[in-house]
Amino acid sequence: MSMNISRRDFNKMFLTGVAGASLGLFGGALPAFAARHRVVVIGGGFGGASAAKYLKKLDPTLSVTLVEPKAAYVTCPFSNWVLAGLKTIPEITQTYTALANRGITIVPEAAVSIDPVKSLVTLKSGKVLNYDRLIVSPGIDFKWDTIEGYNQGLAESRMPHAYQAGPQTELLHRQLLDMKDGGTVLVCPPANPFRCPPGPYERASLIAHYLKENKPKSKVIILDPKEKFSKQGLFTKGWARLYPGMIEWRGPAAGGKVLAVDSSAMSVKTDLGMVKGDVINIIPPQKAGQLAFIAGLTDQSGWCPVNPTSFESTIHKNIHVIGDACKAGAMPKSGFAASSQGKVAAAAIIRLLRGQEPAPPSLVNTCYSLIGQGYGISVAGVYHLSPEGIAEIPGSGGLTPIDANDDQLEQEAMFARGWYNNIVRDIWG
Ligand SMILES: Cc1cc2nc3c(=O)[nH]c(=O)nc-3n(C[C@H](O)[C@H](O)[C@H](O)COP(=O)(O)OP(=O)(O)OC[C@H]3O[C@@H](n4cnc5c(N)ncnc54)[C@H](O)[C@@H]3O)c2cc1C
Repeated sequence: MSMNISRRDFNKMFLTGVAGASLGLFGGALPAFAARHRVVVIGGGFGGASAAKYLKKLDPTLSVTLVEPKAAYVTCPFSNWVLAGLKTIPEITQTYTALANRGITIVPEAAVSIDPVKSLVTLKSGKVLNYDRLIVSPGIDFKWDTIEGYNQGLAESRMPHAYQAGPQTELLHRQLLDMKDGGTVLVCPPANPFRCPPGPYERASLIAHYLKENKPKSKVIILDPKEKFSKQGLFTKGWARLYPGMIEWRGPAAGGKVLAVDSSAMSVKTDLGMVKGDVINIIPPQKAGQLAFIAGLTDQSGWCPVNPTSFESTIHKNIHVIGDACKAGAMPKSGFAASSQGKVAAAAIIRLLRGQEPAPPSLVNTCYSLIGQGYGISVAGVYHLSPEGIAEIPGSGGLTPIDANDDQLEQEAMFARGWYNNIVRDIWG
């Protein structure tokens, strides 16, 4: 592997040392606070649930409240596997029971507004929570007005995005099951930046895996507005090997940019004309989750600027934004990155509440993608603070080598399963 450390060592480090070391909190028990500080966390996904758990773990004296309207959280990681029939929705569903048992107060409601001056969060029921520090991790929202004819109603009925896992994943899965042999599936990723850069390409791979086994005369066309995409060489090689002639990628010069959709004709309009699909998966351009806008935490980019040491908003004091919604420099918008940021924000908040400066963070990310059942690939990185913000430490991570042999690819697929089991236990366990 072209990495300085092996994938196994990297994962071991994540599970044992790096996560803790990056928090700058090792070396002795934490003194109890004179007063019980209140930290409220909004959003129980990868970022928020990690932050809530580590706040309580690192300082059991804190009052930690997690606000999340869903009783159970379906992970986007491995939701592409559901499309291929390799996982079920229950197998990728997490609950908040273990976090409640750790002494975190779970509030099963949506937050509707934040008053950064009075330090108050208002919930949908009208109930108000006050905080000393607030963490906001609302994930993404979609820019519905960018593709003519595409809207939330259409996503929920005929052209799912399946980029927030759950009913959307089930709808796309059902459409694939119902499609005739010889059908065409269109996968239409957005422009950068967006959640999980390799996600659409893993999706195309696993849809092809399902089609090859069940509807071999069918094909997948990826209509992409980008010149290049994550792990492109590795995906392209895997497609040629596992699904020859079945996956076609069209970049912007080949009519990859989707301008409009026509749901009655089941087709999309591009620069080069209309393209028909039996199943159409539109993944719209994205922005920070709606609450970030309501709370005035976003800038003109549509994402939330933060101080990279503590993830404290540069717009509102005492509010920290983590996960996909924040601008985290070179880090991709991934579940692993969100979790890593949640831990760093938790540690920084504990220090800030004690009147100390946050320690310089060390942040990590690994993204596995499955191309076929025993064919995995990955990209990994360790990040630090540079004068430009959060930057990848050169040579810290790496990519599956392009000439990886079958054993390595099989191992990567195995590591992907291990990664998932470990991270969900680490966050929701
Ligand atoms: C198909 C696909 C595959 C992926 N695969 C991987 C992978 O293999 N590895 C990886 O690391 N990442 C992967 N990702 C990316 C990963 O899912 C996201 O980066 C991650 O979920 C971001 O975490 P988050 O906490 O920012 O947001 P989320 O996990 O989306 O959590 C946001 C939470 O906030 C809640 N919320 C929103 N608004 C409010 C409100 N007003 N009040 C209260 N709660 C609110 C939501 O209900 C939600 O539970 C994948 C994504 C997709 C779409």
